[in-house]
Amino acid sequence: MQDHYEVLGVSRDASQDEIKKAYRKLARKLHPDMNPTEQEQELFKQVTHAYEVLSDPNQRAQYDNGGSMLGDMGGFGFGDLFENFFGGGQRGPRTMAERGQDALIRVELTLAEVVFGVEKKLDIDTAVVCATCLGTTCRPGTTAKVCDICSGTGSISRQVRSLLGNVITSAPCNSCRGYGQTIPEPCLDCRGQGRTRAKRTLDLNIPGGVEHGLRLQLSGQGEVGFAGGPQGDIYVEVSVLADEHYEREADDLVAVLEVPLQDAVLGTSVKITTFDGDQDIEIKPGSQSGDVISLKAKGIKHLRHNGRGDLHVHLKVLTPTRVDSKEKELFKKLSELRKSEKPALAKRSQSAFGRGRRR
Ligand SMILES: [Zn+2]
Ligand SMILES: [Zn+2]
Repeated sequence: MQDHYEVLGVSRDASQDEIKKAYRKLARKLHPDMNPTEQEQELFKQVTHAYEVLSDPNQRAQYDNGGSMLGDMGGFGFGDLFENFFGGGQRGPRTMAERGQDALIRVELTLAEVVFGVEKKLDIDTAVVCATCLGTTCRPGTTAKVCDICSGTGSISRQVRSLLGNVITSAPCNSCRGYGQTIPEPCLDCRGQGRTRAKRTLDLNIPGGVEHGLRLQLSGQGEVGFAGGPQGDIYVEVSVLADEHYEREADDLVAVLEVPLQDAVLGTSVKITTFDGDQDIEIKPGSQSGDVISLKAKGIKHLRHNGRGDLHVHLKVLTPTRVDSKEKELFKKLSELRKSEKPALAKRSQSAFGRGRRR
């Protein structure tokens, strides 16, 4: 569950400069010279990896797109990958088994699901080890055969005359594609792939407090690779649906409560619907637009520590837009009684309308 942006503590649209700064700050704190704890060492690796990816515009774009994740294999470094593909100077045939592809899955959550977290079952279409050949790619009862052409070495050497004299060059064997072995009778059920398509149900335990765009990494839960190779990763990207009434501010929930003028003057109490069920809200006499009533710990669960944010109800006093003749008379009378009051510019420090007086 490692989102590179989160690891560095920057937003998804952070500039290269911001990314560099964030990395430097963290690296200074976590650097091996600073005598870090084991946990900090692990974090340093993550931070460094996140920086490697995000500081390279190509890799970053690929990561943002949930793309092929080259260089973002988490635990399966680019170095290993490089060596597997190109032999990296190692002698001998390359192995047939390849790591499975990573997959990106999007999951939509309601705000209520974000508040408390949710368990979800997702049906995914993936690749699993072939049950017939168990990934060997050979028809049951048969085995792979050593390649005649390269005698199992996976490469063909040739002597070539050059200006420097005779040199030996070596190239992958075409006959076995460098594997050093051939499959005389491929498994019929997987057509010699060692894996088959299958539907699988993924049990997702999404913690409360996840943010829109966050990617959860499920290591080794993706597709099985060619010839029964290790499973890739699954990335689950969270998408949060807009709520009808509530908005998120960090881990707080914010809503606007419209209060008729007379209720704001006289005070009243009202039930509002929250994610914890109905809650009584007391509107004090003389309430103003912009006043905020806060309900402690009725907000969103914190993702990384215990507890919850708060729920803030912003009052919005409604001035009647249509009044009948009787009401108009009453307002006129009221106006007479409060003759001394006139509209006036507020002092600047008091005029921050809507910023709210918390109580
Ligand atoms: Zn098979
Ligand atoms: Zn060969």
